[in-house]
Amino acid sequence: MSTQHTIKRSTSEALFETAKTYFPGGVNSPVRAFKSVEGSPLFIKKGDGCYIWDEDDNQFIDYCCSWGPLILGHNHPAVYEKIVGALQNGASFGAPTRLENELADLILSRNPFIDKIRFTSSGTEAVMSALRLARGYTGKTKIIKFEGCYHGHSDALLVKAGSGLVTFGETSSAGVPVNVAVDTLVLPLNDLDALKQCVAEYKDQIACAIIEPIPANNGLLLQEKTFLLALREICTEEGILLFFDEVISGFRVAFSGAAELYGIAPDIVTYGKIIGGGLPVGAYGAKAQIMAQISPDGPVYQAGTLSGNPVAMAAGIAQLTECAKSGFYEEQAERTRYFVDIINTHAKANAYNFELVTIGSIFWLSFDGKKSIHKADEINPDMTGFKNIHRELLNRGVYLGPSGYEVGFVSAAHTKEILAHTASKFCEALDVIFN
Ligand SMILES: *Cc1c(COP(=O)(O)O)cnc(C)c1O
Repeated sequence: MSTQHTIKRSTSEALFETAKTYFPGGVNSPVRAFKSVEGSPLFIKKGDGCYIWDEDDNQFIDYCCSWGPLILGHNHPAVYEKIVGALQNGASFGAPTRLENELADLILSRNPFIDKIRFTSSGTEAVMSALRLARGYTGKTKIIKFEGCYHGHSDALLVKAGSGLVTFGETSSAGVPVNVAVDTLVLPLNDLDALKQCVAEYKDQIACAIIEPIPANNGLLLQEKTFLLALREICTEEGILLFFDEVISGFRVAFSGAAELYGIAPDIVTYGKIIGGGLPVGAYGAKAQIMAQISPDGPVYQAGTLSGNPVAMAAGIAQLTECAKSGFYEEQAERTRYFVDIINTHAKANAYNFELVTIGSIFWLSFDGKKSIHKADEINPDMTGFKNIHRELLNRGVYLGPSGYEVGFVSAAHTKEILAHTASKFCEALDVIFN
């Protein structure tokens, strides 16, 4: 095995020292802090296609892709042109623009699940607003959430499963009032019995059940389709709105997300990440009758100074135009499958306790040796394996997001040649950490 040089990190380290004097933990979002892997964060100065460069001039093939938004890779020419074109006319007006109509039309004309949409500036904001809509529309207060799903950082959703048999949750962050947490009923994923029991116990009190139909923020906890179908059925029977949080899966596994992939219609859906082409955009949507509750048509208030920002809309239009081309998602999945198969075949041949779990162009590193995991408590909490492979891959020019609970993303810029190269580096790294 060739000896690998450890990458130079001194400039990033110096920048991080300074950043720590400005920001809590030196970062503006906690997962960036490299807390669960070795070293300090790499400061990125440039991205192009599938590559990023850090401040020490190291080049990496990027599988973080800004945690999902960059499905076309960095600096895609069409997205770049469209952003610059929009920016020439001004950055923000706080008044309607044609670009909002264009992005909405691009989405709604292809999406059978929603009639109307509202743009926000982040996924968190979209989910928080849509939750208010669910409560406003149904007149009910309690919500069901599933353990292991992430829905952004609003109070009602920073809640984890409580101890014992009680289904109402405990706050998972300081500063979240207990009286907010008691209205969030937390259930295990993929568990029909628990769902039935909860729905019976809180009959006529539950506004919505929110789920990542493809849970991808805490490992990749693929749900059995039978479970999702049963969830749909129970929600319909009980007058509970089915809320698909597709901030990560929307425009990722299919244009209209997991709803399209599985053929299951949610009542409310949220988007984020890919929708903004790398700029800050979120959105929520539903059938017209539900959306009629939103201000100024209805009594549910929600607003945003920079909502529908023209530059961000332009980026979204350019990116989603590429995604809407025929065969885009099949091709993404096919290339990802090629990459995953090389690595899984190697791991299996060597009896390594490792596999990549995958759907569409998403992959997750599982060190459990379990074929498929559906629930949060099935994840092996020992992240030593991830920490080691993260280091070995960085040293071989491959960048993964710095957390073993997060998934990796393949973009349209990751060609088969790039993926084959990465797969060989991956296999090398596995050989190092397992031998
Ligand atoms: C990323 C994510 C969010 C939060 O979106 P932000 O833009 O980070 O606020 C919410 N839900 C899901 C499923 C996500 O993946």
